[in-house]
This record gives sequence, C-alpha cells and structure tokens, in this order.
Amino acid sequence: MKFEVIARTPEPRREHGRLARIFQVYSGRMPALTWKFAITSIKNQKSARWTAAPAVFAFTAAIMICILFFSSISCKSNIMVQNFEKPRSRMVEEQLKTRNIKSEAVLDAMRSVPRHLFVPEDLQNHAYADRPLPIGLEQTISQPYIVALMTEQLDPVPGMKILEIGTGSGYQAAILAHLGCEVYTIELLEELAARSKKILAGLNFNNVSVKHGNGYLGWPEEAPFDAVIVTASPDRIPEKLIEQLKEGGKMIIPVGRAGSVQSLKLIVKENNRVIEKDLIQVMFVPMVDTR
Ligand code: SAH
Repeated sequence: MKFEVIARTPEPRREHGRLARIFQVYSGRMPALTWKFAITSIKNQKSARWTAAPAVFAFTAAIMICILFFSSISCKSNIMVQNFEKPRSRMVEEQLKTRNIKSEAVLDAMRSVPRHLFVPEDLQNHAYADRPLPIGLEQTISQPYIVALMTEQLDPVPGMKILEIGTGSGYQAAILAHLGCEVYTIELLEELAARSKKILAGLNFNNVSVKHGNGYLGWPEEAPFDAVIVTASPDRIPEKLIEQLKEGGKMIIPVGRAGSVQSLKLIVKENNRVIEKDLIQVMFVPMVDTR
C-alpha cells in the first residue's frame, strides 16, 4: 500500500480513541507523521494501561467482595424473614388438602405461621417436610398433617380458651393462637418451656401463656377450658384434664403405650360423661408422669 503525503491530518479527537486512529491508518489517507503519532500514542496507552492494571484489579475485586457480602447478608435475612412461603403453601396443598383438611381457617393458619422458626436452625430446610422433626431433648415437633388434623377436630374459633399439654417447640400453640384462641400450654421440660416462650413472644403471640410443669395436673387456676389438646401420649386419659374441660367441650389426645402405636381419640364431655371416638393411629412421645 502506498502512502501519499497530502496534508497533515488533524490529531484524531480524543473521544474517538484508539479505534478511530486505527481506522485512519487503514483508510490509507494517513500521512507518515500521523502514523508515528498513532503508534506512539497506542504504545503510551498500553503502558498507561499496565500502570493502571493493579488499581483496576483492586477495584474489581472490591466490587466483587461487596456483591458477595451483601448477597450473603440477604441470604441470611431470607432465612429469617423470607420466604419459606413457597414450601409452606406447597405443604398446605400437598400434605393437608389432599388428606381432607377442609377448614379454611386452619389451612390459613398453617399457611401463615412460620414453622421453620420453631425447629433447630440446622433443620430449617426440612421444616415443611411431611414428617415430625427432632427439637432436642429427645422430643419432636409433630408432622404438619397431625397438627392440622388435631386443630381442625377442636373446631377452634376466636376467643376460645384452650389448654395444651406438651408445649414442645410452641408450634401447635402458635397455630391455635393464630386462630385467635386464648392458649394455656404446659411443658414438663424447663428448657423447652423457656425456648418456646421466647419464640412465641418474638412472633408477638401475646395470647399464649406457657407454664413449666406437669400436664397431668392441668391448670386448675385457669379452668374450665373450652377444649384440651394433648400432644404427648399417656396410657389413659388423665382425670384432671377431663375435670377441667367444660361441659360440651372437646379434647383431642393420643392414648397408648410409649414406643408403640397409639390411638388418636376425640373426646366430648356430655352430662359429665365422656364420649370417645378413635380417629387414626399415631406415634407421639410419652406423656411422662412425675407425680
Ligand atoms: N406440641 C408440640 C410437640 C410436643 S412433643 C409442638 O408443637 O412442638 C411432646 C412434648 O410433651 C414434649 O416437649 C415433652 O417434653 C412434653 N411432655 C411430656 N410429658 C409431659 C407432661 N407430663 N406434662 C407436660 N409436658 C409433657
């Protein structure tokens, strides 16, 4: 290619940058001087780029660290606040509706109460699985379906006064509280009573009173109750709990020997007698008698 000096081309404008200069070189209209200028200018840019490289690298690294930091914070807060909403509504659709839980109020409570906050942190990802989970001290939080079934059988309405035996994680109490009931719950193990009290208070369930004590004695100071729910299994129905149940009131309770299958019974107190109905077979931890 032959270059002919016609006139000195003006220096390419800064904003056109390297590409514009290269274009001019290849356009064949660039005089030798401009050639030289273009080459040294490209060289200068290169060396400037090498000097700037560490700074650019540090800047990019800082941005990436920030992105990682903020996304890890948001992951953590997702576990706290978010957004187990999807698994929770899937639980309602797949585990409860399909098994004939019909009460809209109960389904709504199961869809709303954050069950994952009632289980140990390392099990939160399993909180909405179709099974009970350990909560420490050899105790368990019941399977979601069993919680929904027992709740529905009591026909809870706002303002109803309910006694629960076996607070455990506090989840069953939270479901009843979400339904507007006034809940009195007794837990034998002090550590669990304290832990559930804290979780329930943290979620603003002010209509739940937790007591550390022996459920066989009931809560005479607060009796009579509209309903009683027992979430540990005694050999037979504790008398004091029947006494503390209102006339016409319902009790739901698993009855049977520890370690074997028990019968989940629905009891109605009528004319000072009890009418029993066996619902399904279940397995609960034993209701320990320390009297
Ligand atoms: N309702 C609970 C699950 C309960 S597991 C929940 O939603 O998580 C049964 C609980 O009953 C255990 O925490 C156990 O410590 C408690 N328990 C056993 N015997 C008891 C008794 N005599 N009085 C009160 N609580 C008892």
